Amino acid sequence: MTPSAFAAMLHDAYPEYRLDHLTPSECQHQPVRKELLDLVARSSGLFALEEIGKSVEGRTLSMVKLGTGPRRVMLWSQMHGDEPTATLALLDILHGILMARGEEWVRTMLQELSLFFIPLVNPDGAELRQRRSVTGIDINRDAEAARTPEAEALRRTRSRLRPEFGFNLHDQELSSVGESPYPAAMALLAPPASTDRKTTTTRLRAIRVCALISRILEPYARGRITRYDDTYEPRAFGDTFQASGTSTILIESGHWPKDPQKAVVRELNVIGILTALRSIGNGSHEDTEFDYYHRLPPNGKRMVDLLIRGVHVRHPSGWERVVDVGVMFQKSHDVVMIKDIGDLHTFGGLETIELADRAVASEKIQVDNILRTQDLFDTLQTYHPLPPLAFRP
Ligand SMILES: [Zn+2]
Repeated sequence: MTPSAFAAMLHDAYPEYRLDHLTPSECQHQPVRKELLDLVARSSGLFALEEIGKSVEGRTLSMVKLGTGPRRVMLWSQMHGDEPTATLALLDILHGILMARGEEWVRTMLQELSLFFIPLVNPDGAELRQRRSVTGIDINRDAEAARTPEAEALRRTRSRLRPEFGFNLHDQELSSVGESPYPAAMALLAPPASTDRKTTTTRLRAIRVCALISRILEPYARGRITRYDDTYEPRAFGDTFQASGTSTILIESGHWPKDPQKAVVRELNVIGILTALRSIGNGSHEDTEFDYYHRLPPNGKRMVDLLIRGVHVRHPSGWERVVDVGVMFQKSHDVVMIKDIGDLHTFGGLETIELADRAVASEKIQVDNILRTQDLFDTLQTYHPLPPLAFRP
């Protein structure tokens, strides 16, 4: 089966693989640990659970091991506590492997690969729904010094396992596909291993895998994949592991219109990661053209959460015009910040409201104002249903 045919099979099977009872807000220590214990118990020996360390507050850092193959791949998610999408994807993948355990592709993949899944590297941060560790340290700037036990556990595990490939899984802030008004669903990066961003053999392998993911996701992501900023950051895990000989792939989960729980992006992760694993196992990723990576557009800044068109602004001087208003949600969809006012026709919104020339006094809507969403809607005499957001990185 070609990678594209395999991805199509996964796309069809995903509704069965998906753990419907798990949502982004449940990506905290207890529910994730419970799910892992359950999956391992149901696997009758296919999966093994190992404790690789403890967080500052004593929460267990769990790793699931599966497969007996010579090529080792380590995958870890949510080192930023408020970035849960890939944790759900990793759990869906484990569940999918269990569902499909009688199928040829699972048997072959697990003969070719040894897989190490580490979901939720920062359980203390997840408990607080924050990016950083409970002590305020960004774990992804602690790869070298390893002052946090979480970073130390990840470093130690990589040194012990010496995986050929690593998947560093995050959620990114709302970004556009280059200068277009469309949201980036996913950003990929083969991080550089040094300041000169030289393409080492290790990095080249990671570029091949990114190219493969970008290629096979085309029918599903519909051109909404970008390349993440490749500035060298020696304190980050991707860059550090790349320099240590583990070909490391950064996947940043992005956004999809009208999908605040990120179900679409979660599925893209499952299809992209599983197809990449399958291809690493049988070596088919080596055929992928680099183009599929190098021609990816960068992340842009032409997106807002909520784009309100047709706002008729009036100033006491008598000036009045119809403008667009761009709004960003704060930690939840209940509070917003007005980000921009004026001609925003080159911008996109995850949600769009069209107002028929609704009049409002200019002092009521000022850039950088933070206000309750309901108050903004009252000011504009409108209403728009907004389902709850997933965690907001
Ligand atoms: Zn992150």
